[in-house]
Amino acid sequence: MKLILLGPPGAGKGTQAKRLQERYGIVQISTGDMLRAEVAAGSPIGKEAKAVMEAGKLVSDDTLVRMLASRLDQPDAANGFILDGFPRTLPQAQALDRMLAEKGLKLDAVVELKVDDEALVDRISGRFTCAKCGTGYHDTFKPTAKAGVCDICGATEFVRRADDNRETVGARLEAYHRQTAPIIPHYAATGVFHSVDGMADIDDVARELDAVLAGVGHGC
Ligand code: ADP
Ligand code: ADP
Ligand code: ZN
Repeated sequence: MKLILLGPPGAGKGTQAKRLQERYGIVQISTGDMLRAEVAAGSPIGKEAKAVMEAGKLVSDDTLVRMLASRLDQPDAANGFILDGFPRTLPQAQALDRMLAEKGLKLDAVVELKVDDEALVDRISGRFTCAKCGTGYHDTFKPTAKAGVCDICGATEFVRRADDNRETVGARLEAYHRQTAPIIPHYAATGVFHSVDGMADIDDVARELDAVLAGVGHGC
């Protein structure tokens, strides 16, 4: 199964991708996570990306396309993948079309998670992640069962992203509407495009996604 999860920052792409990864045995490829790892490592890509990400803008298409191409060549992507955060511009979508065509691969589904801008600000400003296992939480919508302790691994340290603040959210939403939303018509024309109500509870969104994916053919 080869899948793209589209949607604005905070829509729930990462949350749903983590679950789909378990359910279908396919890898989540999050370009945001990859870039944050580059920033943490202080690599040349990280040095390019850090200030751009903190300003809520998009890192260059060139960098992202090269990063994704080498990621798709890794053996664990052979079984299928969920793209989370890529493509984010029309040139990225076109580059992905070319990459897949060269490999003789077809997307099974492109699913948009639709969420109102007002809800996104609350989602992003309450988001935090377990520092040890990466499980995502939310202050209000998905708190840990026991305060300060990860449900999954028991760790007590959590991280909040540098760009997850109310000031940067505005720029990120602007980038989404101006640069990313225009790729929706590109995919709507392909026949594999689906839209899911991302305003519902996490479990309801998961059920709707499962229903959509149950109905798609598994291409090559
Ligand atoms: P979110 O999950 O909130 O949508 P991500 O973790 O996907 O955010 O991305 C964080 C930041 O990383 C983005 O604001 C952008 O600066 C950069 N980024 C991630 N993916 C891409 C991409 N495909 N193209 C350009 N920049 C990207
Ligand atoms: P994205 O990867 O699209 O940026 P995330 O999956 O990180 O979004 O979700 C953003 C925040 O909102 C996280 O704190 C997450 O726990 C929470 N969240 C995700 N889906 C929902 C939902 N359907 N309802 C309420 N909160 C949600
Ligand atoms: Zn944990």
